[in-house]
Amino acid sequence: MKSTIQELSVLVTDDSITQRQYAQDLCRDLGVTDLHGATNGVDALQALEARKIDVVLVDLEMPVMDGVELIRSIAQKKLTTSVIILSAKDPILISSVGTMAEADGLHVLGTFQKPLLPDALECSLLRFIHDAKLAQQQVHQVEQEVTAVELSAALTNGEMTLAFQPKLTVQGLLLRGVEALARWRHPTKGMISPGVFIPLAERHGLIDPLTRNLLEQAFKHKRTWQQYGLRFNLAFNLSPLSLADIDIVDWLCAMADEYEVPFNEVTFEITENALLGELASAIRTLARLRLKGFHIAIDDYGTGFANAQQLSRVPATELKIDRSLVHRAAARPQQKTIFSSTVELAKNLNLTTVAEGVETQEDFQIIVELGVDLVQGFYFSKPLYADDLLKWIKTGLTQLRRQHESK
Ligand code: C2E
Ligand code: CA
Ligand code: CA
Repeated sequence: MKSTIQELSVLVTDDSITQRQYAQDLCRDLGVTDLHGATNGVDALQALEARKIDVVLVDLEMPVMDGVELIRSIAQKKLTTSVIILSAKDPILISSVGTMAEADGLHVLGTFQKPLLPDALECSLLRFIHDAKLAQQQVHQVEQEVTAVELSAALTNGEMTLAFQPKLTVQGLLLRGVEALARWRHPTKGMISPGVFIPLAERHGLIDPLTRNLLEQAFKHKRTWQQYGLRFNLAFNLSPLSLADIDIVDWLCAMADEYEVPFNEVTFEITENALLGELASAIRTLARLRLKGFHIAIDDYGTGFANAQQLSRVPATELKIDRSLVHRAAARPQQKTIFSSTVELAKNLNLTTVAEGVETQEDFQIIVELGVDLVQGFYFSKPLYADDLLKWIKTGLTQLRRQHESK
């Protein structure tokens, strides 16, 4: 796998010789040596079919086969190249071509108005390397086949643990709470992602014992933190399947009582899509939880199709805006518009807003601009095991605040 910009192969497609040379010079300055050029979409396709090209720069306006057609053909031919889209036209048009390309299944590294700036090119090529690494890790995870029998054994063998990701206030970066995220340390297969074992548990009727196991651990940690005088909120993910369970409210309350956790210091997170199915039974459970004093967050908002009316029927207290609307909104005007109107909608419905998946300073800047209440993401902290969380609260958080004060 390629791990530096210098190792990448890049194709610059532009009908203007000056523009093409300019972009190629920028690539050369960054150390790219495996560099190719094409004057239109047809030439570009030939080049892409002839050899493996990692990244192709696509100019949208070209006389023979234009950029939009080229992107379509790359997708249809299933060529595995990542694209950077360029045009002299208005940024909204460029970013909508980017959205179209992603919908076609292409990996879009960036959409830029010309002239292409060196920083933008460098960031896009670095993103290629970063995403390739992530994709490889994911392939690795998918390859980890685990069975329901192993999952069931994991519950009794103590292989399940939790990591906690901080949720901070945008104003002042105060620790408002943590979200508990399930982790499975398999004795021989290593870490298994919740994206793998939560659906497995749901398919094999194991979600209830898993939820109880994890919630018990989460409440134990919360009680310890309370004993240290730390009073932050605990957020816990509930499977949509659990909402249909009539007894769930009673056992959640009983467990919170057992561990002396105040109901109003706990938030249950439910994905937006859970609200689309068995809406009536889900709302009944959520209403009861809310009446007991627990908080309710609608998770991954923006990935499903819940409309404003459905949203207003849910007795929620918080809206978590999904990473797909948050991350890289600064460079995508349409995404930013949807993000902004989602924040507006949440405010009108009196919901606390949380931006998820904040990865960069640019992401955070937009969040501040839009007046979002809380943030969560790798930019502030990855999910941490309980011991590391305490260390982070003592030192990491203070450092983070200092960095931001000096900005
Ligand atoms: P989620 O509830 O949306 O949790 C946030 C996910 O985003 C976590 O993935 C977290 O590690 C990741 N994340 C946080 N910040 C960033 C960021 O800046 N960039 C990126 N790219 N990712 C970020 P994780 O831990 O793999 O969990 C995946 C999903 O599995 C969760 O999504 C949640 O739906 C589910 N899940 C996790 N734990 C539990 C659980 O205890 N019960 C249930 N029912 N579902 C769980
Ligand atoms: Ca969540
Ligand atoms: Ca989420």
